[in-house]
Amino acid sequence: MTTDYNPFENAKTQFDNAAELIRLDSAMREFLRVPMMELHFTIPVKMDDGTTKTFQAFRIRHNDARGPGKGGIRFHPHETADTVRALSMWMTWKCACVDIPLGGAKGGIVCDPRTMSQGEQERMCRGYIRAIHKQLGPNEDVPAPDVMSNSQHMLWMMDEYETITGAKHPGLITGKPVGMGGSLGRTEATGYGCVYILKDLLKQMNLPIETTSASIQGFGNVAQYSAKMYSELGGKVVSVSCWNQPDNTAYTFKKKDGCDIDKLMSISDAFGSIDKQKALDLGYEVLDADAWLSQEVDILIPAALENQITPAVFPNVSSKVKIICEAANGPTTPDCDALIQQRGIIVLPDFLCNAGGVTCSYFEQVQSNMNYFWDKEEVLAKLEYAMVKAFRAVYELAEQKKLYMRDAAYVIAIERVANAVKLRGWV
Ligand code: GLU
Repeated sequence: MTTDYNPFENAKTQFDNAAELIRLDSAMREFLRVPMMELHFTIPVKMDDGTTKTFQAFRIRHNDARGPGKGGIRFHPHETADTVRALSMWMTWKCACVDIPLGGAKGGIVCDPRTMSQGEQERMCRGYIRAIHKQLGPNEDVPAPDVMSNSQHMLWMMDEYETITGAKHPGLITGKPVGMGGSLGRTEATGYGCVYILKDLLKQMNLPIETTSASIQGFGNVAQYSAKMYSELGGKVVSVSCWNQPDNTAYTFKKKDGCDIDKLMSISDAFGSIDKQKALDLGYEVLDADAWLSQEVDILIPAALENQITPAVFPNVSSKVKIICEAANGPTTPDCDALIQQRGIIVLPDFLCNAGGVTCSYFEQVQSNMNYFWDKEEVLAKLEYAMVKAFRAVYELAEQKKLYMRDAAYVIAIERVANAVKLRGWV
């Protein structure tokens, strides 16, 4: 789905609404409304056919008052500076909301790794680090994976940084492969994190998870592990949507009695495209891309990109839907929030809901710094504790002050960041 919404404008609108709610002073508003630092650069890459291709790239640090900048590097053909600006801002609120000592940053490369060889991807990753290594570092700005970037990309980036600096710096980047400084559970963390808090919300609502059903948009890393954990806990995933290779069209794959997530994962590629023919052979209905949104389910889990739930499509959302669990960053446009509220749907807002990834990245850094690695149970137990604690603080504030959950999450996050900015004497 393409829309005219600009994610940075959305992020600023959300911030302005919350700033008004807490009567944030105007100097602080002015400072927190925009990123502190932006790098726009190019990466020339030698392609396998002997030509050189130039890729546009970004690294944007929104705020580092609470700690080093933190956030992924997205690989996407439609990446823009404004998308990265918005994502960097949401990272600031995300880290503050789960109360980890990190700031917000984000990176992006305008590229389509699905069409690039491993060698081309490696040279592009190394080029990214060569261009901006002086602005990165374990105590300055720490990248991680995001849409279409993965642990192998992170390792090439770390290796390039270590080659340039002549020393080992595992804290430079997170989302590294296990055994190479990565943390067990990091791959699952974002998706599992969403479901840890969804489970807690359902408990508060007295809704047994086994009686609920969900429809998911996307089938990349976040969607896969949300789907997996949710179905392991007894929930029924009725449909998932994804884009499809090689025709690049998006579809919704549906099974009324519940999708088998492991099976779907086994017929999807590294970027989350499900093989359409194999899905048909397994008895899945193949519907159009937007069908995920109109399923008669209790829970919608947008786990793909920004601007998917808009006033234009909201009327298609079934009256059965009680919860929108925002696993993606910015999936709902600000002009849709009032409509969602009117219907009484509860939103688990993105920067709370998907904070499991960065929380586990923080654990990865802690383990890398100690050079001592925890087992998976320990990582996941700490992750669940952190997520549920953050969720309960937001939920309780929302109940107490009769706030929409997104606003409650913003209030908590902005107050923490503004406080750090004040204590440092910046504003
Ligand atoms: N890209 C992920 C996010 O949007 C993870 C960021 C990280 O681990 O630093 O939250």
